[in-house]
Amino acid sequence: MTHTLSDRNKVGTPRGETSTLGSARKAAVRAIQSREPAITSVDYERTPIQELYGANVFNRQTMHRLLPKAVYKALIRCLDFGESLDPSMADVVANAMKDWAIARGATHFTHWFMPMTGLTAEKHDSFLGSAAEDGSAILEFPGKLLIQGEPDASSFPSGGIRSTFEARGYTGWDPTSPAFLMDSVNGKTLCIPTVFCSFSGHALDKKTPLLRSLEAVNQHAVRLLHLLGNTSVKRVISTVGPEQEYFLIDEAFYLSRPDLINAGRCLFGAKPPKGQEMEDHYWGSIKERVLAFMMDAEAELYKLGVPVKTRHNEVAPAQFEVAPVFESSNVACDHNMLLMEVFKKTAQRHGLRALFHEKPFTGINGSGKHNNWSLADDQGNNLLEPGHTPHQNTQFLVVLTAVIRAVNKYAKTLRASIAFAGNDHRLGANEAPPAIISIFLGEKLLEVVTALIEGKPDQSKAGKSVIQFGVSTLPQLPRDDSDRNRTSPFAFTGNKFEFRAVGSSQSIAWPNTVLNTMVAESLDHMATEIENLTKGGTPVLEAAQKVTRQVLTENQRVLFNGDNYSKEWHDEAEHRGLPNLKNTIEALPALVEKDAKELFAKYSVLLEDELVGRYNIMLEGYCKTINIESLLTASIATTMILPAALEYQNRLATTLVQTKAAVSGINLTTQEAMLRELVNKVSQLKTSLEILESLLHGSKEVEETDPFQHAKFYEQKVIPAMNDVRNAADDLESIVDDSLWPLPKFREMLYIY
Ligand code: ADP
Ligand code: MG
Repeated sequence: MTHTLSDRNKVGTPRGETSTLGSARKAAVRAIQSREPAITSVDYERTPIQELYGANVFNRQTMHRLLPKAVYKALIRCLDFGESLDPSMADVVANAMKDWAIARGATHFTHWFMPMTGLTAEKHDSFLGSAAEDGSAILEFPGKLLIQGEPDASSFPSGGIRSTFEARGYTGWDPTSPAFLMDSVNGKTLCIPTVFCSFSGHALDKKTPLLRSLEAVNQHAVRLLHLLGNTSVKRVISTVGPEQEYFLIDEAFYLSRPDLINAGRCLFGAKPPKGQEMEDHYWGSIKERVLAFMMDAEAELYKLGVPVKTRHNEVAPAQFEVAPVFESSNVACDHNMLLMEVFKKTAQRHGLRALFHEKPFTGINGSGKHNNWSLADDQGNNLLEPGHTPHQNTQFLVVLTAVIRAVNKYAKTLRASIAFAGNDHRLGANEAPPAIISIFLGEKLLEVVTALIEGKPDQSKAGKSVIQFGVSTLPQLPRDDSDRNRTSPFAFTGNKFEFRAVGSSQSIAWPNTVLNTMVAESLDHMATEIENLTKGGTPVLEAAQKVTRQVLTENQRVLFNGDNYSKEWHDEAEHRGLPNLKNTIEALPALVEKDAKELFAKYSVLLEDELVGRYNIMLEGYCKTINIESLLTASIATTMILPAALEYQNRLATTLVQTKAAVSGINLTTQEAMLRELVNKVSQLKTSLEILESLLHGSKEVEETDPFQHAKFYEQKVIPAMNDVRNAADDLESIVDDSLWPLPKFREMLYIY
């Protein structure tokens, strides 16, 4: 890794310059001016991408090379068809993994898991085994250490599932996501993706329910396909390609903003004079330093076998997007976590910071994650790909209908899967889909669906006839038909659905768990209905058509092709009875309603207490986030903004007094008005601060009532009080002497690299 970051540490007030309010901002700009772009660690001319790609992954190719044939075959059966692996083989796999890792520079291994914090967790152990008598190092990695770990679970969130005396947790190897070597400046660590559960078997992580939901989808999709005559299919998986948005700003600015450091977003900051109105950033040419960072981060991800494919400037200034090639949803989820981690680390090496918060800068677009989702069989066929033959079409329409039903029936559960404090800033604003869950099908497909529902030829359009299952084919569906509507939260985009309301910082494990489970339930429902009809003697294709028509009729209210941002849609959605859950507090309770509890329990994805535990963790997370933000708001306002404003007030007052003394009889009414306005704004800031602080003192009492009331208190009382402080401070930003202002402004942070 060669990095020329000679000036990286030149942040803060340079020597010989007295530190005054606002001087950190100037110093930051100077530091940025003297930066050089860091050089990417890989020279692709010497190491072509195909050599680099997957170099740090214990993937199939490596396993094929290093494992005895029988062990390799058993492992592949386990990966592809879910067969369990004979524990005796674990020793062989572990040993090969250890030798491979050590040969590539690893000293330690870790079970890598995703607790309910929403982040990843790791505890490293070296390969050193029992002490050798001659004092030499004996390196060991027995199969049992690969298969299971026993970390102390007591400090991870459990939502009340795990009592404190049951501190032990278990991590268990997930062979379906490949082990990898995480690079660091001083060596590598072997990371083994694992699930994490309690002694009693309760899931304490995000991966376990995701794997369970994949099982549910597999079981019922295969059953349905077999019923429709597609009997060669052995397995169905869900596939995911998450498009990831993020911001990049210079580290010097970041380090001057305690709110960015501690809350991941700016709690203060007036809207910049130039925002995104020029529409000049989207797909604009990528700045040198930014591109250098992107290439470096991509090189790291290639080594980890993360198939990043697309990079571009996004809508907001300083906003970017990276998108991978899709993979099985379990691996896609692990890879998205790795991507965020690698981006954060690499940005720092370039003197930059990558921000994944949903709304780092109020007033300009926030970031999301477009979760592209589909189902694929073990022969590589996409089940949402409209086919060329009548049989393929039948299958496509049945699966499509199952998804439509799932999204309508479990709209609230799906909405809840993306509900957290950060995403509340984004959903419903005119930049992200609204909180109303609906489906966009595109014009052509909606016509097909409508014709199916109506069951009669549409007279208005010549030549068009109703699709007949197993007999007629679909009209050609234009691919870009679907991409034109960017306002829909759940859009069909030619051969997959794009769930666009996912937050940029959140793990995609939970939304995909919900999606898979509700679709599994729908596939199950349709299979059962078709089976029942065939038992009564109806031919299977006729039965499929009947059931599809019935299900579409019952669920068509969720279909909407128009502008989701419009007021008309909000009224129309209400008329149709679609839920509109505007924020986290309105959305989360759906998780503990009867139908959600039954859904997760029926498919063994989450037992009731596991689900309730998660609900509690999410409420707690919400309270903690707002609490941290409000404490930061109070402290930044008191210790940074008020002093700057008072200093300026003092200067104005002194100037007025001195001017009056110097020029007899002068009229200073307008200048006095300036001072009065300033004093009023300072008082407003101080008053709103006092209100916020008294609310925070009272929050302990509310906490003791119940978690939901506690969260509601933050939403209804604390957030408005925090907004009042911010509004007063942002007003001051526009009148206080710029050289005194202590926080980097949006107009700097978003534009200077
Ligand atoms: P765009 O949305 O710009 O037209 P694509 O539709 O090709 O681009 O891809 C957007 C994302 O969707 C990519 O991450 C891609 O891998 C993913 N994607 C494409 N096909 C599927 C699929 N069958 N299942 C899941 N994700 C997919
Ligand atoms: Mg897309």
